[in-house]
Amino acid sequence: MNILKSLKKYFGFDSFRKGQDELVENILKGNDVLGVLPTGGGKSICYQLPALMLDGICLVISPLISLMKDQVDSLKENGIKAEFINSSQDIKTYTQTLRKIKRNEIKILYISPERLENEFFIDFIEDLNISFIAVDEAHCISQWGHDFRPSYKLIPQIYDLFDKKIQIAAFTATATKSVREDIINNLKLSNPFVKVTGFDRENLLFEVRKPKDKLAFLSNYLSDKKDLSGIIYASTRKRVETCYKYLKKLSYNVTLYHAGLSDKEKKKNQEDFIYDRKNIIVATNAFGMGIDKSDVRYVIHMNMPKDMESYYQEAGRAGRDGEKSDAILLYSTQDIVINKYLISQSPNRAYQLVKLQKLQTIINYVNTNKCLRAFILEYFGQDAKEKCNNCSNCLDDYEKIDVSLDSQKILSCIYRLGQRYGISTIVDCLKGSNNKNSKEKNLKNISTFALMKEKNTKYIKDLIGVLIADGYIKVSGFKYPILKLNEKSKEVLFSKKKVYIRDLKEENKKEKIDKFNGNFDYDIDLFNNLKKLRLEISKKRNIPPFIVFSDASLIDMARLKPKNERDFLKIKGVGEKKLSQYGDLFIGKIIEFDN
Ligand code: ADP
Repeated sequence: MNILKSLKKYFGFDSFRKGQDELVENILKGNDVLGVLPTGGGKSICYQLPALMLDGICLVISPLISLMKDQVDSLKENGIKAEFINSSQDIKTYTQTLRKIKRNEIKILYISPERLENEFFIDFIEDLNISFIAVDEAHCISQWGHDFRPSYKLIPQIYDLFDKKIQIAAFTATATKSVREDIINNLKLSNPFVKVTGFDRENLLFEVRKPKDKLAFLSNYLSDKKDLSGIIYASTRKRVETCYKYLKKLSYNVTLYHAGLSDKEKKKNQEDFIYDRKNIIVATNAFGMGIDKSDVRYVIHMNMPKDMESYYQEAGRAGRDGEKSDAILLYSTQDIVINKYLISQSPNRAYQLVKLQKLQTIINYVNTNKCLRAFILEYFGQDAKEKCNNCSNCLDDYEKIDVSLDSQKILSCIYRLGQRYGISTIVDCLKGSNNKNSKEKNLKNISTFALMKEKNTKYIKDLIGVLIADGYIKVSGFKYPILKLNEKSKEVLFSKKKVYIRDLKEENKKEKIDKFNGNFDYDIDLFNNLKKLRLEISKKRNIPPFIVFSDASLIDMARLKPKNERDFLKIKGVGEKKLSQYGDLFIGKIIEFDN
């Protein structure tokens, strides 16, 4: 069958997203592949679709037990024969699944990498007709990735079990070039087709703020979003609790998640969120791996995460369904101090250095004056337009202030001090400070001493932050970061390039961008009605609402108002199985609504 027809038949989509078609075609041709697609980019279909079109069973290696169940439920909803095997199951379910596999009743089997340590299982799969092995979250095989999982290293060991060459399809959302090379080498991919689609998530609005009162910012932001689904990340259990209590007091329908809760509580709270019983979850970063709830409309970070990779992954949990969503990062100087402290607790010096470098990238992200999207994309090695018009740096209404002269003073102070010191000494010198540090280093004798004495310390520090973020100052050194000049600094020093900052006062006044302007191009009342119907079905069938239909499907229904089966089949996400299972119910609701 034609590939596009199969896509519609099984998954209800009319077209492929970027990169999906090439990856599917290459798997069907028998090639090893590596697909790097952003979170929410649609990696699953890249292996699920060919798995259905090829002979035999596809093994999917996935690190996340929680995700397996959702994936399998979702496939079953589309009428696809899929199962999973993991340590959360009882022996009866396990043997039942093995029996089904023997009878060729399963096309897609999810397993965790640890399962490959189980000799019984290895003996069992030896006789199977495996179409190919899909490796999800493939960056876990790289020690340089941010989620190294030793059992991923077991994967290549099973290739020799089979007479034929085992075809591998590896996928990940975040992989720098060196991690990509690691994946190819460690998984022993042979002459793979590699597709790196853009990292951009066009439907996400990126926003960075440094509010004086983060909780006040939060309640202001949430005031018109009571019913929307959202994740709020805080860095510690205590902060999660504080934020949770605050929102609860304001009568939000909120739950919480952190490592201090019992397993039972964690499971319950997570399910409350996934099943839409609670629409907000406040959590530490322990929450989220394996959460593929597709209608999360915002992800807010109350603290600065430890690196850009983690941030992009966590923020990427917003808007998987492709609808407009917000990714907001709130930070304070204290966050940086705490992150540095946590890194310093690690016994491994080389590890600390990598972590500090990674931390610096996110410090640069919050300080940059550039388009935030461009910053992210360039960090991941991708070209980007100068302005995206969908981030706070592009959208904010601020006054541009020329700070080239002050920047020159800072850069020349770094030069005069021999590029040997960190921020505080530079500031002491420029401020003309008389403190102990200043005396010890004899700063008085430096020509830039007291050159900025009329400016306040915060301004100088913030400006240094901007100069670092935008690449005019290099940070090096281990425990005590040292400021150095580079080629770009010369452009500013010799007046070839101007430096601007935003008028922060203006920005503080305007701590909120109008995101949802209330103009929907679909019938919002019908959408809400369909959501209710979806919730009823989800309760009856004990599967999460977004697995019944994603918000994107309901929005399509509320826009096109299909009143017969032919039109209903045109809806995004409606394939043959969903049509037969839910067509009548939803068409009925739409007709009832329009009468
Ligand atoms: P990833 O694993 O890359 O994070 P998923 O595979 O979970 O992303 O897909 C994210 C969402 O996008 C899912 O809700 C999925 O149904 C939807 N999706 C995937 N491919 C398409 C497509 N071609 N058209 C429309 N929606 C799609």
